[in-house]
Amino acid sequence: MAHEIHLKNNKYRQWVKAGLGLGYLKEGLAPFCDDIGRQQHNDIINKIQQTKTPQPNIPCGACQITTLQPDHVRVSKGICPLKQDKCNCCFPSNKRPCPNNVCGAIYDSIIQDHASMPPAPFWKNSDVQQWSTEPWEVCKCFINAPGYKDKTSTDDTDCTGLLHVIINNKYFHSHIGCNVTGPNNLFLKVRQYRNMIFHSSSMELEESEANIYLDDMIAVLQDNKELVHQPAAQQAVLKLQDLKQKDFVITTECSEEILKQIKDEMTKMREFTENAATKVEYEELKNKFIELERQLAQEREEQTRKYTELEAVITEQKQEMKKLKVEDSPQQKQLQYEKAKSGCRTQLIEHYRSDILKVSAIPLQPDEENYYFSDIYIRPTITNKIEKNRGSLRKKK
Ligand SMILES: [Zn+2]
Ligand SMILES: [Zn+2]
Repeated sequence: MAHEIHLKNNKYRQWVKAGLGLGYLKEGLAPFCDDIGRQQHNDIINKIQQTKTPQPNIPCGACQITTLQPDHVRVSKGICPLKQDKCNCCFPSNKRPCPNNVCGAIYDSIIQDHASMPPAPFWKNSDVQQWSTEPWEVCKCFINAPGYKDKTSTDDTDCTGLLHVIINNKYFHSHIGCNVTGPNNLFLKVRQYRNMIFHSSSMELEESEANIYLDDMIAVLQDNKELVHQPAAQQAVLKLQDLKQKDFVITTECSEEILKQIKDEMTKMREFTENAATKVEYEELKNKFIELERQLAQEREEQTRKYTELEAVITEQKQEMKKLKVEDSPQQKQLQYEKAKSGCRTQLIEHYRSDILKVSAIPLQPDEENYYFSDIYIRPTITNKIEKNRGSLRKKK
């Protein structure tokens, strides 16, 4: 069966292993990103509340990215002081200020916190109407790739998205030991793994390569500044180390997890299938998904078969036990009879001892008190009188 050949194929197993690793990496990074994202949002909002007049009115749900007027103004025609390409400040004619005096300032903060030069927030991933209340909506502007618009929390953002936020958001840099702006740094390297794994033309990976991926993911989660002290990150490290064990086997859960990730990847890609290259890539990914789904169906079938077999064994054992119980019952009855018999005997002995063996000391004149028969019994003397010839007697005791 194709399915079994595939499972025995070590390279395919290594590929699944690496895919699962990405899931653990995301699990390990999500609480950290959530935490720092909230701190950043707090800082932005506090600063706005302390510095802006008139007093900002939070929340604001009235602004759109296409029409929002930033707080900063252009230096001259087409020149943004914050150096953002195609900045809203450069097209003032169709822009209007935030009616609650908050969104324009958040827009400025995002550009100022963006690490790339020139700053390039990815506005399409984010919903401006939630900026004043949802930290992750602000953070998503730092994900420099499409497909995250409907990801409303760190939990449903994949590891690529989380790593984009860490790398592109200056606010995060002080919480990371690694120099994430340096060339070929570990975080940049690991950020490419998801694409390398899911967009590779084969679903195969050398074991040595898979282990390098996992080791790098572990190294990211052990970043010496804060991540190394984060329980979730360290939990993920344990899981990744577990994955590296030689006896890794693919379970239905593993396959389901991989399928979930590929499905996610496909949803993301749907947003940028305009150009031909990504269309091909998308088709490839879709084929992978179909192939995996087919395998999973076979795996499920196999499990159902095993389960049916197990059920049969259990039923057989149940019947065996029933039979044993039935066979057991005459013995059980005999035992109960013996017990009752012995109880009856004990009762009789008790009755005999207390009521029969005690008698009055003088039987003709019954006493008030009774005594044990054995205490007052005196063995009687019996004499036999034997008559001999002519009336002579001989006594014999
Ligand atoms: Zn500008
Ligand atoms: Zn607004």
